[in-house]
Amino acid sequence: MENAKLDLELVSLTKRYGTTVAVDAINHRFKPGTYACLLGPSGCGKSSTLRMIAGHEAVSDGSILLGGRDISALPPAKRGTAMMFQSYALFPHLSVTDNVAFSLKMKGVSSAERTAKAGEMLELVDMTAFGDRMPDQLSGGQQQRVALARALITRPQVLLLDEPLSALDPFLRIRMRSELKKLQRELGITFLHVTHGQDEALALADEIVVMNNAVIEQAGPAREVYNAPKTEFVARFMGGHNVVGLPEGTFAIRSDAVQVTGPGTGLVEASVTGIEYQGTHVSLNARIMGDQELVAQVPEAIFFNNPRQPGDRIGLTWETGQLHPLKA
Ligand code: ADP
Ligand code: MG
Repeated sequence: MENAKLDLELVSLTKRYGTTVAVDAINHRFKPGTYACLLGPSGCGKSSTLRMIAGHEAVSDGSILLGGRDISALPPAKRGTAMMFQSYALFPHLSVTDNVAFSLKMKGVSSAERTAKAGEMLELVDMTAFGDRMPDQLSGGQQQRVALARALITRPQVLLLDEPLSALDPFLRIRMRSELKKLQRELGITFLHVTHGQDEALALADEIVVMNNAVIEQAGPAREVYNAPKTEFVARFMGGHNVVGLPEGTFAIRSDAVQVTGPGTGLVEASVTGIEYQGTHVSLNARIMGDQELVAQVPEAIFFNNPRQPGDRIGLTWETGQLHPLKA
């Protein structure tokens, strides 16, 4: 059982708080050993979903299956899941080792055994030298590693992380991000990581599940969700895309797939409304028919070969395959 890889499945999972529907009958199967990100704007139901999986919040309707077993009514410690919270919630009066060993103490594991197990977990997160410290003697990044060790000591099949990086400064966030990914690969268990940052999800996830208004808008491999958004919401939320209304319908096209040509030689006529230098490329804003604004990301060397100014008439063009129809 301990090393068996298990599917996590959400079946018509629903959460209501009074009249608010926070999670509306969502269905999804997470493959074992996946780094999955639940991505969406604030209030879309991510934390409610995670808390129901963890068992910190009762399910209003539907069920949660782990390896085919319905875990929705089990207490948190019996589910095979573990949760790491946004605020790491370490016990301030316990040493690092005792924090990590806490759940084993609750289970009645002997002092010698739980100290040994806590030691293994601290080694896993590179915190061996800090076992005797108190939480307030640690940096934010170190506290986070202790919180990770504390969650992992229960040997979960699925580790649940709610915005685990949001309390860290930008530099540390990027470092911890790669450490989380490395840890997930080493352990081979499923990480289900909630974030509202599309760059974080793209950097980490094998699979991205985009939520909006209590439902799943789109789920799939990170590249697929980025390259082929199915709805206007996903195209805008993932960023780097234009949403454009053409006579044939509404489409998404990546900004870096839009090419600038001379007037009369592109697919659509446009006038330049703004230029932003961004180092590796130049962002060119242009207005096309129907007062629609498009962004073209032009590699900087190409742009400066033939620089444009606001007010210039230009053409815009793209390869047909780059245009993705969006569901209305
Ligand atoms: P997210 O994590 O995506 O920001 P949440 O799952 O926290 O979203 O919240 C989803 C919706 O449910 C929001 O409208 C929020 O206000 C509401 N909500 C969350 N927790 C509670 C609660 N304990 N009681 C009432 N409403 C809640
Ligand atoms: Mg949340």
